[in-house]
Amino acid sequence: MFLHPRKRFGQNFLTDQQIIKKIILAIQPRSNDNIVEIGPGQGALTYPLLEHVESLNVVEIDRDLCAVLSKIEKLTIHCQDVLKFDFAAAFENHSVRIVGNLPYNISTPLLFHLFEYSDQIIDMHLMLQKEVVDRLTAMPNCKNYGRLSVMAQYYAEVYKLFEVNPSSFFPAPKVTSAVICVKPRPHRELEKIQEEDFSRLVKQAFSQRRKTLRNNLKLLLNEENIRACDIDPGARAETLTLQEFILLQRRLISLTKQKA
Ligand code: SAM
Repeated sequence: MFLHPRKRFGQNFLTDQQIIKKIILAIQPRSNDNIVEIGPGQGALTYPLLEHVESLNVVEIDRDLCAVLSKIEKLTIHCQDVLKFDFAAAFENHSVRIVGNLPYNISTPLLFHLFEYSDQIIDMHLMLQKEVVDRLTAMPNCKNYGRLSVMAQYYAEVYKLFEVNPSSFFPAPKVTSAVICVKPRPHRELEKIQEEDFSRLVKQAFSQRRKTLRNNLKLLLNEENIRACDIDPGARAETLTLQEFILLQRRLISLTKQKA
């Protein structure tokens, strides 16, 4: 396949056979796995995956690539924007494994979209910018720790597997990449219905990084309520653990119940 890479779709095609082998080895695909590949592109991961599985689903936005891919046997193509792709409807809530060398321009919204289906996802092997991987795996008090770290670690365990140099792609991206394995948590601390509010609270807490919780959360929780969780209202969001964010959310839930 020799289609000209399209920048607007974040097309940096993997060309390094050693890296491709390493990714397939990490995935360990089994014949009856229900794998969904996001952004198959010219098939760098698709063809090796097809050597292991009976069938494969791919979600690709580029119609020209979809036309070429449609000639491949055992492949089901969903030619659409993955950010609008309803995994639950497409696979009738059946469990899936996700694989993808992701388009970097949409990596953060895509991760949040995927977390919406985390009950259905067994695991994800993803290639992302190293900078995003550093944020996903960051711990409190680190400069990379933020909303993405808290939400990702709430939904899943995230393991960094290895880094990939720009020279492994065509065209070479400007940044280093990394492959991660994400394992969604089967049991989460909050009820599903409360998760949207939790995401809002975490976003609000980090809305102005230099400001304290007292300031950032003032519309949601007053100082007294923050203190009731054994958390200093003068602290910044970047110092809080995931468990402390969950305590704040539980406090918010009990206040809302009291008001109702
Ligand atoms: N998997 C191929 C590889 O490793 O060489 C291609 C990876 S390339 C970084 C990203 C792929 O995602 C491209 O094929 C691109 O067209 C596709 N893509 C970009 N935005 C997308 C979107 N919103 N929905 C689905 N696919 C998208």
